[in-house]
Amino acid sequence: MTDEEIISNINKVRTQIAEAEKKSNRKEGSVKLCAVSKFHPVEAVIASLKANQFLFGENRVQEAYSKFTEIAKTDEGKNAELHIIGSLQTNKVKKAVEISSCIESVDRTELLDEIEKQCTKLNKTIEVFFEMHTGEESKAGYVDFASLQKDVALCAEGKYPHIVPKGLMTMAPFTEDRELIRKSFVTLRECREKLNAEFPSLPITELSMGMSNDYEIAIQEGSTIVRVGTAIFGVRQY
Ligand SMILES: *Cc1c(COP(=O)(O)O)cnc(C)c1O
Repeated sequence: MTDEEIISNINKVRTQIAEAEKKSNRKEGSVKLCAVSKFHPVEAVIASLKANQFLFGENRVQEAYSKFTEIAKTDEGKNAELHIIGSLQTNKVKKAVEISSCIESVDRTELLDEIEKQCTKLNKTIEVFFEMHTGEESKAGYVDFASLQKDVALCAEGKYPHIVPKGLMTMAPFTEDRELIRKSFVTLRECREKLNAEFPSLPITELSMGMSNDYEIAIQEGSTIVRVGTAIFGVRQY
């Protein structure tokens, strides 16, 4: 992909997001775009910054760390913001909290404990999203609502002063069945509604859902952040 192609793709996705907002009677600008730059080089991120795309998502900490420490040193890169969106091993938390503003893939108590520990050392406050398992084919995330509820309760009790629980994240199943995809997004939205009712003091507002193939459905179902990789940067070479 050339820089021009990346910039043009970002603008296309923005237009589609705006159309989807309108069609589903959502407020203009209520859906943020997270550009998923995994497997793509530093240059692809720099090109995006030129289109005023500042929010990025990466799923592997090692790769994200080397890329985003380099990007932070450039003039354009000062405004870049990174979300970690992939399942996170406990021993990678230290680096993850150093480079990101939000960890979207929290899926267990042990991870919250470690994020709190590392953020305390850095004197940093970080946002987290809880990842819910809503589709049969995705293995990541809390499998049952009760275990999610338990961890959110720990946040509400004040166990994690350096963590701001800001939202929920999910990946829809990889399928052609649009109704199955929709069901997964509805489930996430209903989880947020239940958590908001039970923990009104917590700022759980964001719904990170929707990827290149399904973000329009996600927007119809209330997504506030779509995570788009392929539609911006092209097919990944694994
Ligand atoms: C790779 C990835 C995306 C982006 O997927 P595309 O289909 O390329 O848009 C979104 N979310 C997560 C968690 C990912 O790992």
